[in-house]
Amino acid sequence: MSDNLASGTGQHVAVVGAGPAGLMAADAASAEGAQVTIYDQMPSVARKFLMAGKSGLNITHTEEQSAFLGRYGDDPRVRLLVEGFGGDDVRRFMAELGIPEHIGTTGRVFPSMMKASPLLRAWLSRLADRGVEVRTRHRLNAWDGARQLTFTSPEGDHRTEPDAIIFACGGGSWRRLGSDGAWAEVFASADRQVRPFRPSNVGLVVDWSPIMVERFEGAPLKNVRFTSPDGEQSRGEAVITKRGLESGGIYPLAASLENGGTLTIDLVPGRTETAIAERLFKQKKGQSLSNSLRKAVKVEGLKAALLREGANPEDLRDAGKVAARLKALPLTIKGTVPLDEAISTRGGVPWTMLDEDLMLKGAPGVFCAGEMIDWDAPTGGYLITACLATGERAGWAAARA
Ligand SMILES: Cc1cc2nc3c(=O)[nH]c(=O)nc-3n(C[C@H](O)[C@H](O)[C@H](O)COP(=O)(O)OP(=O)(O)OC[C@H]3O[C@@H](n4cnc5c(N)ncnc54)[C@H](O)[C@@H]3O)c2cc1C
Repeated sequence: MSDNLASGTGQHVAVVGAGPAGLMAADAASAEGAQVTIYDQMPSVARKFLMAGKSGLNITHTEEQSAFLGRYGDDPRVRLLVEGFGGDDVRRFMAELGIPEHIGTTGRVFPSMMKASPLLRAWLSRLADRGVEVRTRHRLNAWDGARQLTFTSPEGDHRTEPDAIIFACGGGSWRRLGSDGAWAEVFASADRQVRPFRPSNVGLVVDWSPIMVERFEGAPLKNVRFTSPDGEQSRGEAVITKRGLESGGIYPLAASLENGGTLTIDLVPGRTETAIAERLFKQKKGQSLSNSLRKAVKVEGLKAALLREGANPEDLRDAGKVAARLKALPLTIKGTVPLDEAISTRGGVPWTMLDEDLMLKGAPGVFCAGEMIDWDAPTGGYLITACLATGERAGWAAARA
């Protein structure tokens, strides 16, 4: 089966991948009058986006612009795109879809219902009103390096040669949601070698004692400071999991712990070691360590258990040594969880392959968007914002290609 769609009123744009980047690309291209077809290999669209909504869809952040852009490190290309379509634009986009927002205490923005599904429904309905066609169960398996695409589908092979293509196939994690990274092989067959995927925003593996898992699995570790082996620090929250630690507080340090090492935790970042030692010395003689820790420095529950987990039992008899351990508790990290479990991945299409409109150099009318491009950002809404920003630019440019 093949089709060579005539452009009709506008150009025919094929979008490969129906995650937030692909949907935004389709949105922007159809708003410009293009006739858009979205292809996705899964039976339904935006599965990772929906999964992101399970823990509260943090779609963007209200941070002022220079701090916001700083989250993309010193990558000028992604910063420029987010400067053109940033937090305010994402919020406007949600409002246009009739989705009220909720702003958390730290400035993170969520749809008020926290989930992604109402937003996705409203978005798909807007796309349908503009005549955007969605073809699920269509897996891209060949690209000729120009504008010919071949998909496998339940009806057999489907070939198309649109006026413009936008690839928005995602990164290399959570393959069960469709983001399997296998598009990299399709690109390689078209002589486009992309960078290998590496984990980003990924959990750490810790060999917890059974009691830690039994008592504290799912518990958040708050108000601490983490230091990586190379001295990088992070003050966010981490969550205890069966296998180790997850969440925004440790993700920024994960790259240096990919092959294991020691994570140092300051369990009482608000006090100096001397101040803690003095408070511990003042505690009644004969009092249990648990009581002393709770009364002197409000360390109890998970933090007290971590201290026992990471400190030598001998050290726990000496107030000075306890104070030192509370300020610098060494935790042995075995490495990061497998790539497929990372919240996001680095690697993919390097910026050097793309022009400023995200068109592949040497392939007129062929664009890329979203996590399949090699940029990186922390959690906090910065990932989806950049996916939407790149999708918007590619969609706008493809409609004019
Ligand atoms: C558990 C979890 C929670 C998250 N929470 C947040 C959050 O709160 N805030 C945030 O900013 N980010 C979050 N993220 C990250 C965010 O979801 C991703 O960065 C984002 O979905 C990437 O968008 P994308 O459109 O580039 O790719 P994806 O969402 O990965 O979509 C790519 C699409 O392409 C399709 N595809 C791939 N290959 C092919 C092929 N060969 N043929 C046809 N179709 C193909 C896939 O089926 C998929 O639908 C979270 C991620 C996870 C896993």
